[in-house]
Amino acid sequence: MAPVKSRVIVLRSYKLGETSKIVVCYTREYGKLRLVAKGGRKGGGRFGAALEPLMVSSAVFYPKEGGGLSLLSGAEIETEFPSMRRDVVRMAYGSALVELVDRLVHERESDRGLFDCIERSLAEVEQAEEEQLDDVLWRFELNLAAALGYSPELSMCVKCGNADGRVAGFSSTLGGLVCARCAASGPDVALTTVAVAAVLRLIAANVRSGSTAGVGDRMTRAERDDITRALHEFLEEQGGQRLTIKSMDFLAQIRRLDGVGTETGQDNG
Ligand SMILES: [Zn+2]
Repeated sequence: MAPVKSRVIVLRSYKLGETSKIVVCYTREYGKLRLVAKGGRKGGGRFGAALEPLMVSSAVFYPKEGGGLSLLSGAEIETEFPSMRRDVVRMAYGSALVELVDRLVHERESDRGLFDCIERSLAEVEQAEEEQLDDVLWRFELNLAAALGYSPELSMCVKCGNADGRVAGFSSTLGGLVCARCAASGPDVALTTVAVAAVLRLIAANVRSGSTAGVGDRMTRAERDDITRALHEFLEEQGGQRLTIKSMDFLAQIRRLDGVGTETGQDNG
């Protein structure tokens, strides 16, 4: 089979044998793929930094029919994100983004819109003010859910379809808002607070309008963590698997150690 060229976003890599590595990436033309880089571990190797996680590169490879590993024959960096590499907090957000893609997206389902969304979101992580990073991640999660076919219902009650009733909260299990009447009549599902549901609606409105306005920068760290948790639980429920996002756990650890994230409001954690 003839080699093909595609833009790729490197999600992660792991070693194969003594000298090679496997690069898991999201390609613009072929969706998520695993590429074998022969000799890719030798002192930077002939592929250099183009295969480092979070790089946007241009890759030439031989696509393997019917699944399995595709052989990489060349890769060049297209976009790197220097601020992300310098800044441990920014790096954790960028890593969370690609970890989510790695965990939730199936191999070989091509979606150029999703590729562009990942690339755009990484550029936002690179450039955004630090207080806006949660917003970048939240918007990305809603876009990812839409790409995977399970957008949360945030415009009406997910149970009865009422768009005007008082909202009681958001249910990860049901995948949407629940109105007060449905919440009162059961059966019981865990609901977020009304405030969390309201913020989720604002984020969804920003996603719809393409706005990068922040909704999180006036919230306390504890309030932001509630939003992050709600979206995380939603993706777990709808994606049908437990998600341990290592970079977010890491970020929580550094925040505990040095009080990063207490820059706005009171930190109740
Ligand atoms: Zn209802």
